[in-house]
Amino acid sequence: MKVEAAIATGTGSFQIDFIDVDEPQGDEVLVDMKAAGICHTDFDSLSWGKPIVMGHEGAGVVRSVGPLVRKVQPGDSVILNWAIPCGYCFQCLEGNQHICEVNSPVTSGNKASGGHAGLDRTTYKGQPIERSFSLGTMSGATVVREAAVVKTTVPIPFTSAAIVGCGVMTGVGSVINAAQVKPGRSVVVVGTGVWG
Ligand SMILES: [Zn+2]
Ligand SMILES: [Zn+2]
Repeated sequence: MKVEAAIATGTGSFQIDFIDVDEPQGDEVLVDMKAAGICHTDFDSLSWGKPIVMGHEGAGVVRSVGPLVRKVQPGDSVILNWAIPCGYCFQCLEGNQHICEVNSPVTSGNKASGGHAGLDRTTYKGQPIERSFSLGTMSGATVVREAAVVKTTVPIPFTSAAIVGCGVMTGVGSVINAAQVKPGRSVVVVGTGVWG
């Protein structure tokens, strides 16, 4: 299907243009995007030296699924996830899925993380085009693997769900994994931004 997407030029800017997104195969899921967050890494991705379908946090509705998909079905609301743990390496089995040794998640930006749908699933002007963090959420639709979607089971606006995949989990991970904050501890929060 043809959808509009924000495409980083690789030289510091972006354009809105049509891309082709393939039908899902195997354990892939085609998601109609409803909202995408904007992260500072998206600004960086404008200058990664190659065209990229922008966006690595987003939420949407499942349009169609491949024959091997089991946990979601068309019509489900989902949040997209770029950090897919393998589930069987030492760290995953220890409960440290955030530092999976096999599907090392992208944390430095300009590279693809493991476990995702192939780059050839999305094309631009007849050529395969990379999706930011293997997702490419700033697009009318995107095709990803089943492991890259999380079904939302409580009502949550798409605009709020969209930021769970990067902004929220980065903050939660900083608190739980890095700072190891426990209930009752005193903390200082910096960089909260400006409301209103
Ligand atoms: Zn981000
Ligand atoms: Zn793992």
